[in-house]
Amino acid sequence: RDLAVLDARISGCRACPRLVAWREEVARVKRASFRDEEYWGRPVPGLGPADARIAVVGLAPAAHGGNRTGRVFTGDRSGDWIFAALWRAGLANQPTSTHIGDGLELTGVRVAASVRCAPPDNAPTPQERNTCNPWLARELALLPDLRVVVVLGGFGWTALWPVLAAAGYRPPRPRPKFGHGIEVALAGLHGPLTLLGSYHVSQQNTFTGRLTEPMLDAVLSRATELAGF
Ligand code: SF4
Repeated sequence: RDLAVLDARISGCRACPRLVAWREEVARVKRASFRDEEYWGRPVPGLGPADARIAVVGLAPAAHGGNRTGRVFTGDRSGDWIFAALWRAGLANQPTSTHIGDGLELTGVRVAASVRCAPPDNAPTPQERNTCNPWLARELALLPDLRVVVVLGGFGWTALWPVLAAAGYRPPRPRPKFGHGIEVALAGLHGPLTLLGSYHVSQQNTFTGRLTEPMLDAVLSRATELAGF
């Protein structure tokens, strides 16, 4: 199975009734400023090449971001932050991601989310997280060169442990607590893997200065170092 097949299967998923209803309702009603656009209104697959050595895992698509554009982290302020940082780290060919077909290319990195459908109030339930986890497990298992996972936020950190176990990695016990800059080394199917924690690029962190560009750059710089770039 390759990533394109997985992406297509994810895009057709309807396993969470609450999220299916919400993503489709948002796509129907739209935000006034995007009323002339066709919303995606479906699960949002990951983005990036199969030879990625780094995965960046976020929380879930934004209602008028990924749920509108159909591309992960694309079309909202969180995405503005992450793609600019990936560009500064040499992992993207341009600092912006506005829509599918805008020329963006990622190198050495795959960007994905713990939950693939936009949730109300940006808050999936633990059950929805658990239901969606197998998609991420399959995605990570399809990245044979994966060496580093950058986890954005505590929700994704918690969500990742069963994903890693399902993907063949052996999580430590007890599980290390989430924190910005935390680093955890694991052994796995395809060799060693390092988890790096980062505060999420959500506006409640970036607007308040809890997460700054230098803080995010430092995590991605460490990721590229560990990945051997
Ligand atoms: Fe499917 Fe995940 Fe969307 Fe739930 S959140 S419907 S499991 S893609």
